[in-house]
Amino acid sequence: TIGMIAIDVDHHIHTGTSTNGARNKIPGRVGDSPIAGAGSYADNEVGAAVATGDGDIMMRFLPSLLAVEAMRAGKTPEAAVDVAIRRIINYHKDFSGAVIAVNRLGNYAAACYGMPEFPFVVSSPAQAVLVKTVKCLPSET
Ligand code: ASP
Repeated sequence: TIGMIAIDVDHHIHTGTSTNGARNKIPGRVGDSPIAGAGSYADNEVGAAVATGDGDIMMRFLPSLLAVEAMRAGKTPEAAVDVAIRRIINYHKDFSGAVIAVNRLGNYAAACYGMPEFPFVVSSPAQAVLVKTVKCLPSET
């Protein structure tokens, strides 16, 4: 999956996802990517989140909605993505995936599990494209 979050000049927040057709898109499977709250979620008053990973697990936890609601409740993007990933791995130790969140001010964070690290890209008018990498939660978490 590629998940995208954009804040436009009017401060509207948008998300979009594209998901891989090679391995997961068997005929008839919808997957998590187009499901609001699972693949992505946005609220202009709070921020947005996108998720990638095992969609059949993520559909049951709505990690993008969880992260946005955690930010609405006052958590930082870093704490919000942690909430979303930990909710999943509390039930699925074999999960592999990542969640990225951005608040309405443009502060962002990512959390991941089931792999060593996760790369993501950040860009703004003030800053050229930047590739960031976050270390994933350890598997004994
Ligand atoms: N979430 C996607 C799916 O399960 C896969 C991915 O993130 O690469 O369809």
